[in-house]
Amino acid sequence: MDWKKIRQAVRTVLAAVLICAASVGITGDPAYAADMGAVYGIYEHGTGWSGYHGDSKTARAGTGSYVTAIRASLLGQPEGMSGTLSYQVNLSGSGWLSWQENMTPNGSTETDMPLEAVRMAFTGQLAENYDVYYSVYQNGSWTTPVKNGETAGTEGHGLRVDGLWVTVTGKGAEVPEGPNGKSVDPTRPMVALTFDDGPSKYTPRILDSLEANGGRATFFMVGNRVASYASTVKRMADLGCETDSHTWAHTYLTGMSEGEILQSLNQTRDAIVAAGGNAPKGVRPPGGKINDASKAVLAKAGMPSIVWSVDTLDWKTRNAQHTIDIVLSQVQDGDIILMHDLYEQSAIAAETLIPELTRRGYQLVTVGEMAELRGGMAAGQSYGHFR
Ligand code: ZN
Repeated sequence: MDWKKIRQAVRTVLAAVLICAASVGITGDPAYAADMGAVYGIYEHGTGWSGYHGDSKTARAGTGSYVTAIRASLLGQPEGMSGTLSYQVNLSGSGWLSWQENMTPNGSTETDMPLEAVRMAFTGQLAENYDVYYSVYQNGSWTTPVKNGETAGTEGHGLRVDGLWVTVTGKGAEVPEGPNGKSVDPTRPMVALTFDDGPSKYTPRILDSLEANGGRATFFMVGNRVASYASTVKRMADLGCETDSHTWAHTYLTGMSEGEILQSLNQTRDAIVAAGGNAPKGVRPPGGKINDASKAVLAKAGMPSIVWSVDTLDWKTRNAQHTIDIVLSQVQDGDIILMHDLYEQSAIAAETLIPELTRRGYQLVTVGEMAELRGGMAAGQSYGHFR
């Protein structure tokens, strides 16, 4: 093989990618005060290379998968300033590999072994003018960002890297907030607030409260409502909330044929993605009604069913204080709490519950985050809590 030609071809493609990336404005978050930004990708076991992620964007392997290699470079490097962004990986079973740079893959694309840790650093004059901060997703949460050659991740603990986050700041600038500013501490209690039947005009009040308290929730949305509240759905995703499915028209799964269920799920997914949400990873069966036949269809659709362990009956009582009392008297670590963002009284209850649960030490996480830390979810199975 002619490696020079391959290298040249890679450079050409990379240059095109970088120009594209620059033109869509991913050259760095202005809050981090750097004109220069990192650009990077992960090799996801079983899937392949991710797309290129711009500075401070999280790159995550899919559920159950992990990272076996990374590659990275810079956008907007000041002309005439020497140096590169270099990176080193600890590949399980092999230890630390050599430093690489300029999008050269580091790790392995042909192994089942995960990365365990990552280091990144600037060389040349870049090192005198910039800091690079990075974090890995490991054991269900993002590690605290480290910088300039420090180790992100653990060595020899059998913990794998499931994601990568990188950002560049001016030398000595304020330490940036980590990935989304959100990580879950697996040693602390957590609950998943879930909201069904929306979105509605009350949903933004719940999002305001989540944002103010650093929490997330999972929204099981009725597909035919989504287009009318597109900006709300996008904001859910931007805040790290889960945008999940409650079918297209709130029809009981147990009364639908396989074809009807699949169509309903596909239509809902398309509406959520079109609104700027993430493709649903779970379904809440309307009415909580699920049987073996509908579970088998969900298995084909690659989706788990998510039910609940605390039922507030908020849709029935329409009484905020009643909803608050139920939750605060019943809540336990690992609960999935059922509410409905279709009603004003439920939003009012959420505005009290979100800060109060946070004050009591509960991390407000998504169902997916909690599941990931506590055994995961399988398509076609139904889950009511993660205790
Ligand atoms: Zn419902």
